[in-house]
Amino acid sequence: MTDGNAPPSPRLEFREVDVELAGRAVLHRLSFSVAGGEMLAIVGPNGSGKTTLLRSALGLQKTSHGEVRLFGKPVDRLDPRQRALHAAWLPQSEAPADNLSVRDYVSLGRYPHVGSFGAENAEDGEAVERALEEAELTPFSHRGVLHLSGGERQRVLYARALAQGAPLLLLDEPTSHLDVSYQFRMMEQLHRFVRSSRQRAVILSVHDLNLACRYADRILWLAGGRCVALGSPQETITEERIYRVFGIDAGVHREGGQVAVFPRRPPPALLGPTPGSRRVHVICGGGSGEELLQGLVERGHEVTAGTLHLLDSDQVTCERLHIPGPLESPFSAITEGTRAAHREILARSEVIVIAPLMVGPGNLANLEDALPFVTGRPTYFLRGVPGPDRDFTGGKASEVCAELRRKGAVVVRDLAAFYEDLVRPGASSKPLDPEPLGDPETQRDPGAMAEEAK
Ligand code: ADP
Repeated sequence: MTDGNAPPSPRLEFREVDVELAGRAVLHRLSFSVAGGEMLAIVGPNGSGKTTLLRSALGLQKTSHGEVRLFGKPVDRLDPRQRALHAAWLPQSEAPADNLSVRDYVSLGRYPHVGSFGAENAEDGEAVERALEEAELTPFSHRGVLHLSGGERQRVLYARALAQGAPLLLLDEPTSHLDVSYQFRMMEQLHRFVRSSRQRAVILSVHDLNLACRYADRILWLAGGRCVALGSPQETITEERIYRVFGIDAGVHREGGQVAVFPRRPPPALLGPTPGSRRVHVICGGGSGEELLQGLVERGHEVTAGTLHLLDSDQVTCERLHIPGPLESPFSAITEGTRAAHREILARSEVIVIAPLMVGPGNLANLEDALPFVTGRPTYFLRGVPGPDRDFTGGKASEVCAELRRKGAVVVRDLAAFYEDLVRPGASSKPLDPEPLGDPETQRDPGAMAEEAK
């Protein structure tokens, strides 16, 4: 196959495809095509038909209506070897029968080239070595496949698919067992794979909407076996669609051509009443908020956090705990739009907590945003006010903190007492008198603060 200027025919085409399993319709009138150079992500809840769609694409699943075409030919007219030369398949999981070495397992991907009894030639060997390297498995190549972790085994299946050398890759949740770093590395590789030739295409099912947003050219949304949307992430990712398809409340953040999704924790009202729960906004970053965020969620508070930079360790904690809040791209300055979103969240909060974070030019805005909201709202500096050891703004952060203190922010050192104070009646709903600025490290008894507020 060669690259030409004319657009290649679709790598895959579904024409009004129905699939039935055990007498039940699982896919309904699916029609779409995937062009060369494209990455298509399939998203949908469990049981929506993603695996069935991918298996049908490979001819592993019979259709009851319509037609599937692979590289312009009906898939059911291609023999298994021809199919394997066109398309490689990475299943969700596979239980290896024997304890083959990783290298031998990956070599199985070369079967359409070497045939059943053929010996591996130099080209096959090179393809296997390359695939092992891409999947970062070279150091594991002599290990037995039965003695690998779930993530390592997933990378073995990925390497086997790469070794096959087919221009179309079909991958069923290829990132489900991978840690976040491998997830990004695999998606980057797949991105390069499709961009390197207009003959190539990638179709993958994925649960992480953010990976789909970041890397897919288009997203096919499946619900109950039907395609409910098909288009670019920018076009198709909306709060309403996420709610309709997945039944979850999620925010969608758009910026500079990028889309990011952040699920919100169901409001406490939906989870049932938690006595004394408060809307607590946490200003944190770099792991300074981890213990606090966890503790607040465990106590049933409605927690927000921000603004956080994507991939910051506190942002990862927030994602795990479903804590919403404004997000910014990694290492970028916080934009005015994000600050406006932050101020909206601050305005809705009942309590503000400033974790013992490092303050630099990249996050000073978070403290400045809090200034108008301190009066009338209990505001705590957890474990002290940022001093010279945590102020990397040439003193600007210290000035803002002094202003926050003048407006009533207090220092709290004891997390347990803080949690207790939060649920004390009146602790978070009445305005406080501004506190005179004294020694910024002066420890306040949060209980006394509640008394003052009465
Ligand atoms: P997804 O990949 O989106 O989780 P699947 O394609 O695996 O969804 O499944 C779609 C539907 O088909 C589900 O309702 C599932 O229970 C059903 N299903 C899957 N495999 C079979 C099977 N072998 N026999 C009968 N029903 C099946």
